[in-house]
Amino acid sequence: MTESISKVVANDCCIGCGGCGVSTGGGAKVFFNEIGLFQADVHGMEPDSLAIASQVCPWADESEDETAMAARLFDPALAKDERIGMYRSTMAARVVEQERVEGSSSGGMTSWVAQRLLEEGLVDGVIHVGGAAGDKLFEYRVSTTVDEIITHRKSMYYSVSFAEVLESIRGDGRRYAFVGIPCFVKAVRSLAEIDATLQEQIIYYLGLVCGHLKSSAYAESMAWQLGVEPDAIGQVDFRIKNPKAGSRGYQFGVRAIGEDNYKTSSPMELVGGSWGHSVFQPNACNFCDDIYAETADVVFADAWLPKYEADWRGHNIVVTRNEVIDEIISNGFTSGLLEVEPLEVDAVAKAQAGNYRHRRLGLRARLMDDIKSGRWVPRKRVIPGYAGITRQRLGVIRQRRQLSAASFGLFQTAKEAGNLEHYLKGMIPLIAAYDRWSKPSYAKRAVGKAKRSFWLIAAKHQKGRS
Ligand SMILES: Cc1cc2nc3c(=O)[nH]c(=O)nc-3n(C[C@H](O)[C@H](O)[C@H](O)COP(=O)(O)OP(=O)(O)OC[C@H]3O[C@@H](n4cnc5c(N)ncnc54)[C@H](O)[C@@H]3O)c2cc1C
Repeated sequence: MTESISKVVANDCCIGCGGCGVSTGGGAKVFFNEIGLFQADVHGMEPDSLAIASQVCPWADESEDETAMAARLFDPALAKDERIGMYRSTMAARVVEQERVEGSSSGGMTSWVAQRLLEEGLVDGVIHVGGAAGDKLFEYRVSTTVDEIITHRKSMYYSVSFAEVLESIRGDGRRYAFVGIPCFVKAVRSLAEIDATLQEQIIYYLGLVCGHLKSSAYAESMAWQLGVEPDAIGQVDFRIKNPKAGSRGYQFGVRAIGEDNYKTSSPMELVGGSWGHSVFQPNACNFCDDIYAETADVVFADAWLPKYEADWRGHNIVVTRNEVIDEIISNGFTSGLLEVEPLEVDAVAKAQAGNYRHRRLGLRARLMDDIKSGRWVPRKRVIPGYAGITRQRLGVIRQRRQLSAASFGLFQTAKEAGNLEHYLKGMIPLIAAYDRWSKPSYAKRAVGKAKRSFWLIAAKHQKGRS
């Protein structure tokens, strides 16, 4: 077992990050496939190259798992939690400046910390995702000015690869911060472990909590439902804040090529817009157990807690693992640039409750399902099995997987036929079947609604007084 990247690719568990390509000097080719996902091609590679790539691929059995990697990277005195990994501090936070927070996904903390790292001369550039000029909507890029960091904000739910960008900066003598979802951070950490040049250059790792990644079809399918066909898309904004709703009430927007105005809709009103439906989720995400980017120096999430959801402008949950970043945030708070409230670890985990159900409980069941049907599965930190999973939850887990897999083919055929109806007609019954399994009980919905109303009233009251 020294080349398990071949199994990762053959079993559709590649996330397309590009780590294999960088580690083998282009031996592994990473390409954008017909269903809108970056994927690795490892055909024809020599065993030695495959062995190197397998140390870097986040899904290969030879790569270090997140727990072992974090133990090697961080101060052993840090607190540990099985759900969120190692941590120095846990908090809810946001940037105070109104315009800044409104133009960010959540509380604007990710771009703010990236900006401070640059301004304080701790890095020369930030490697992150931003709008693309060519045939893709988003791509990895390097920002070397504050203006660029501010221009490329918000969450981009879109398949990307860092291969080209890392190859372009490798050996340029500059220092960088890397921003990425958990598996991408882990892949770059593994790369740095075997590549002294990148190790010297990438100084800080900023993680984004991740529910799952999306193929390019996610943006395209929602844009098409708003009347903009895939080839006519100019720009997409997944996170337009809505002052008339809480922070969960953000909108999806699309601007056709040559148009000035966005067409917008709540994603919840579009087929596939609910995150729980997992449409266009790469299969690799079915085998991920890292929610709080456990190998990153700091990780940012949406503050999905009733108290913070009441404020439409958004807040982040932040988990730090690095002293310098802790200090940057603490200085931001004392100088009045940031609002920061300490948060209990339980609250940090609770904000991602659905994510844990999908990634930990769901993963155990999916691993077991696949093992029983004789399929290869990657080595994970959870133990395969169904113990403690109710029949109803098992139904949700399996239905979601089916829904997710079906979305790719249905949309591909719809695109080929130039007929969106093909996708919609195929998806609607699958979503209805999923919803029958997943709908929370009346009591659960009522409690959730009461909590949100309480914090909404409290927020209005607070606003009236200030
Ligand atoms: C695929 C994906 C899934 C996510 N799932 C969840 C979830 O389930 N729960 C949750 O709480 N949060 C999730 N997030 C994180 C959340 O959407 C916000 O990105 C996060 O809260 C940071 O908000 P912010 O206001 O601090 O970011 P901003 O200040 O707006 O800055 C965002 C920064 O992230 C970078 N960025 C955006 N997209 C990507 C990307 N795909 N890869 C690398 N860098 C990127 C931008 O370049 C920018 O630097 C997800 C993010 C992504 C990209």
